[in-house]
Amino acid sequence: MVSKIIPIRETPTAHAKMTDRLRRPLRDLRISVTDRCNFRCVYCMPKEIFGRDYQFMAHSQLLSFEEITRLAKIFVRHGIEKVRITGGEPLVRRHLEKLIEMLAQIPGLDLTLTTNGSLLKKKAQALKDAGLKRVTVSLDSLDEAIFRAMNDVDFPVASVLEGIAEAAAVGLQPVKVNMVVKRGINVDSVLPMARHFKGSGHILRFIEFMDVGATNGWRMDDVIPTRELVRMINGEMAIEPIDPNYQGEVAERWRYKDGGGEVGFISSVTQAFCRDCNRARVSTEGKLYTCLFATEGHDLRSLLRGGKSDDEILDVIGQIWSVREDRYSEIRSEHTAGLRKVEMSYIGG
Ligand code: SAM
Ligand code: SF4
Ligand code: SF4
Repeated sequence: MVSKIIPIRETPTAHAKMTDRLRRPLRDLRISVTDRCNFRCVYCMPKEIFGRDYQFMAHSQLLSFEEITRLAKIFVRHGIEKVRITGGEPLVRRHLEKLIEMLAQIPGLDLTLTTNGSLLKKKAQALKDAGLKRVTVSLDSLDEAIFRAMNDVDFPVASVLEGIAEAAAVGLQPVKVNMVVKRGINVDSVLPMARHFKGSGHILRFIEFMDVGATNGWRMDDVIPTRELVRMINGEMAIEPIDPNYQGEVAERWRYKDGGGEVGFISSVTQAFCRDCNRARVSTEGKLYTCLFATEGHDLRSLLRGGKSDDEILDVIGQIWSVREDRYSEIRSEHTAGLRKVEMSYIGG
């Protein structure tokens, strides 16, 4: 929790060089704009927990678009170069394109969004017009029965594919497609997904099933390690590793040897990438989390609403980051999986 405010450095340039205790800079900010979602993905918001009686946040608890924009500008002074809007499902937050328009005016910011794609066909053009650069769309299978069972609200594959096509058509490119792979659920969908997106210009990324939150019943046995996926894909379509775009990139990049484009692997469980982790997360109600697997956040909303100046908030964030030691994925075990960690749908992916 935020306790003592120790002023750090004075100038924006000096702040930009700030690092945590493991010498990691702050570069990437993920902002969750809602804890609500129109899907109930079994690995993220299982229906047994997120049912009819589940208490989502009241609108007054959420950061307003003005508060989010103010925070983003403060984070930029700390060296943030990229902002990803996430959730819950960000496109269920009304008038999201207004927020995008406000954030897009911050100079030099790479602005992107992760969505389940369900509302993308309708919203892609407005998001592009508002200044969004790219999108990442989650899609776990092309098999109708498997996908409907995974999103658990009977949502059809075709609508997500239409959303992806529309995003590309309006210029939100390249579209990245995220597929969480869970043993016994959608492993048979891996090759069809790879075949489908090979040569499409979109970048498919496979994500190891993670023990985020405390409700998804994670077991190590359910994780399909990246090396197994690489073997599977390479057996049919030859791939080779390529260099990362930048230090700290989450996905390991591979390409099809025949020129069919790129695929990515996010191996947060079997090949932890904490060493280069430069990501901070702001939850729907304005708490700062320095790790996806944190159990507690730091309340920034009370500072925003309590009359603190930008410089004071800047210093608080600097203080929090400067003592950061998070490296959860490097110390994960079946035991740590049981900790009461914050839910993915609240903190954002
Ligand atoms: N609703 C949006 C979506 O699904 O793209 C954005 C929020 S969602 C929490 C962000 C990403 O986290 C999605 O790509 C989703 O598949 C991924 N995700 C959620 N739970 C996960 C888990 N337990 N393990 C791995 N990835 C997960
Ligand atoms: Fe919703 Fe995204 Fe979580 Fe699925 S992964 S339940 S779409 S927030
Ligand atoms: Fe970063 Fe935490 Fe994930 Fe490690 S476990 S990569 S520190 S978010």
